[in-house]
Order: sequence, then C-alpha cells, then structure tokens
Amino acid sequence: MELTRSPRVKALLKSRYPQLVLFVLMLAGFVFAILAGFIGTPVGSHNFSIVFVWIAWWAILILVAVPFFGRGWCAVCPIPVAGDWLQRGAVLNPAPKTPKWLGLRVPAKFRNMWMQNISFTLVALFSSVILTTPVVTSVVLAAMLFLAIGLSMVFERRAFCRYLCPVGGFIGLYAQTAPIELRIKDKNVCAKCVGKPCYNGSDLGSGCPWDVFPGGLTKNTYCGLCLECLRTCPHDNIAINARPFSADLARPSAKLDEAFKAFIMLGAALIYAYVLMGSSGAAKLAAYNVFTPAWFVYAAIFLTVIFILLPGLYWLVISITPRGRGVGVREFAIASTPLIPLGLMFWVAFSLSFVLTNATYILAALSDPLGLGWNLFGTAALAWQPLLSAFIAPAQSLALVGGLAWAARTAQKTAPQAGISSAPVISYCLAVTLLMIWLLL
Ligand code: SF4
Ligand code: SF4
Ligand code: SF4
Repeated sequence: MELTRSPRVKALLKSRYPQLVLFVLMLAGFVFAILAGFIGTPVGSHNFSIVFVWIAWWAILILVAVPFFGRGWCAVCPIPVAGDWLQRGAVLNPAPKTPKWLGLRVPAKFRNMWMQNISFTLVALFSSVILTTPVVTSVVLAAMLFLAIGLSMVFERRAFCRYLCPVGGFIGLYAQTAPIELRIKDKNVCAKCVGKPCYNGSDLGSGCPWDVFPGGLTKNTYCGLCLECLRTCPHDNIAINARPFSADLARPSAKLDEAFKAFIMLGAALIYAYVLMGSSGAAKLAAYNVFTPAWFVYAAIFLTVIFILLPGLYWLVISITPRGRGVGVREFAIASTPLIPLGLMFWVAFSLSFVLTNATYILAALSDPLGLGWNLFGTAALAWQPLLSAFIAPAQSLALVGGLAWAARTAQKTAPQAGISSAPVISYCLAVTLLMIWLLL
C-alpha cells in the first residue's frame, strides 16, 4: 500500500522543514549528551549521556524504530547532519555539482559492510565500559560525530553512514524485515529518465547521499530514508509503501559481509545476555576491567564465538546434510538469511529486560540530567525499581519463540535458493534459541 499516495503525506515528506526541525532537535540532544558525559556526574545511572543514549534511545531503536520503520532512525539521526551541511556548504540547498571539498569516491575494497562489522565489534568489545561510564560514552559519541564530519570532507556522499557507522550496519540488516520500504513505482519510467537526478542530484535536491541508485532498489539495507529522491525525482516515480514484514528476505543477499553481520549480531546478543543480564560475577568483572588479562580472555572468547564458532557450526550443520555437501560462500551467505529475523528477536528479548529493568533512571535523569542535584520535574529522587517485572519473562519468551517461528518460515523460503534443505537451518536456529532462553530466563 502506497503511503505517499496521500498528497498531504507526500507534501509533508517532500518539505525539508519538518526534517530540519527534527535534525536540529536531535543534534541539540546529541551535543547535550556529549557534554553531559564530560561535565556531569560520573555515576552512569544518573547521567543523561548513559540514561538517554543507552536506555531511552536504545529502547526506541530496537523495540520500535527498527522493527516497524527499518531505517526510520537514520532519517532523523543527528550524526551525519553537520557533515552534510559542511559538504554541501548549505543547510537546505542541495550539494553543488562541483564538490566543495575533496569529494573522493570511497575505494572499492571498502564499499561493503566489513568496516561496519569491525566498528560494531570494537564497540561491542568495550560495551561494558561504554554503557556505564559517561565520559567514555561521550568520547564514543564525539568520535562518531567528528568521523562523520571528517569523512564528509574527504569522500563524496555519506561515507560514514554507508561504510563505517557501527549502528548503521545492523539497522540496515534488520531493516529488511520492516513493514515499510521506499521504492520506485515504475521501472520503465526510470529506464527512460534522462540524467537520473535521484542519483546525480538536481536543483531540487542532492543525489542519493547513500550512494544508492533508487531506480534499482530491491531491499532496505542501504537506503537511509533521507527522502532526497522523493524530492528530486521529476517524474513522481518514488513511493513509500507499507508491506508485509520481512518482504526483502524473499530475495536473500549472497554477500559474505552481510552474512557475517547476522552472525555478529546473533553472537553479541548471546554474549550480552550472559554477561550483562546473567549472574556470573567473573564474566562481568572480565568485561568491565578492560586491558586486564581477564578482559583479553573475554575478548578472545567474544571474537571466537562471533567470528569462528557460530559461523563455523552453521557451515558444519548445513554442509553435513547430503544436499549441503560442497556448499560455497554464496550459498552459505544465502542460507544465513533466517538469522536476520532470529537475531532481531534476540535483541528485542534482551532489550526488554535491559530497558524495563533500568527505565526508572530515565525519569530521574530527566529532572537531574547532569547529576548535580537539580529537580526540574520533581522526579529526581525517584527510587530505582524494575518496571513491569511480571511481564518481562512472558514477553521475552514470546519474542524468542516468535523469532524462531519467523526464522523457520524464512528458512523454508531461502534454503531452497541456497540449494540446501531447511531442516539443518531450523535445527541450528532452535539450538541457539534454546541457548538464549536458558541465558535470559
Ligand atoms: S548510519 Fe549511523 S550515523 Fe548514519 S544515519 Fe544511520 S545511525 Fe546515524
Ligand atoms: S529520477 Fe525518478 S524516474 Fe529518474 S531514475 Fe530516478 S527514480 Fe527513476
Ligand atoms: S536518496 Fe532515496 S534511495 Fe537514497 S538513501 Fe535517500 S531515500 Fe534512500
């Protein structure tokens, strides 16, 4: 169903002003989060930077934005905004034909998801410290902001978003499951279109900042929903559609970098469930005490699980069946598609307990964002208590069982495209789901 069929909706989306207002508000909040980490209390649970980034934002992102709006967060994310403005030399006007800065093309060997896999893994390895120490959160947020600005000066379009952002990689992966998409209406119109302004830009707007040709879009992974092509297409050939969940997964990706993103996310959810939500004090200490011998052991286990154990076992499970013998890289990547809905639901289940356990900190930090004894809304002294604790375990069970059913359904559609049987894929998904249930519940 085309959501942009309504002239009012289309006019609202084509206007740059609502998006600009959101960008400015988000950027102000982002800069405040950075400042709060540097000048506010070092107690993470009372500092705006920790509470609003890792509890409030994370809850909205993983429980609402990604499952229902795909890359909807990227449409309003403040991180690339300052770089965009500098790159264009304007706030509202489109990018000039001649680049104002270097405007280089990102080298071909980096035009994939591997850098995002590495950047996410690095953040994940230090996450126990990042998630609890305001100043470290601020350093990470500031680094992302300045890297995005720096790369905008050197490379064309949004190089940071497309190839480096640790968050953007998994949003793109899971956006394939979202019930919303931006697509062309008629490919014949694109075939006859002179100049392809959606990609090359025009007076109406910039060429796709994500280096995607909108006329060839078949999945959500790399479309940042920036809406530029909706503004630049002179033939009104771009639509935003509501669609069934996981529509993109019917045409699975055969890329190994995207397959590894799915394994990294799956493994990180399992490890976080054990380390952050589990009862093992030794694991927590090892994860928190970075650069100690115990942390190096933790890091080695983390890397082994996500880069060797999970993909290796998967390869083994699918290749020991008669139809899976001699499975190649392409088939392996296609066969990993069911791990996308499975991983998303693992993160939903993990985040439900993480967020509801810590949600009362949001109200307290709203009144005293820097931990300086303020009480702006009278909620600063709110005592910590988990919210809806009776609801957490049933909701997590539902998410995990639902994720398994979703993965099994996806396996039935995608395994034949990889030339293998769906049974080993479903068995693997069942085994890791049982492990996640044991870790979380
Ligand atoms: S890719 Fe990262 S920096 Fe870019 S818009 Fe998305 S979340 Fe923000
Ligand atoms: S500008 Fe519009 S019609 Fe032309 S190629 Fe792009 S989407 Fe197709
Ligand atoms: S220009 Fe269009 S295709 Fe490119 S990122 Fe923006 S919304 Fe997506």
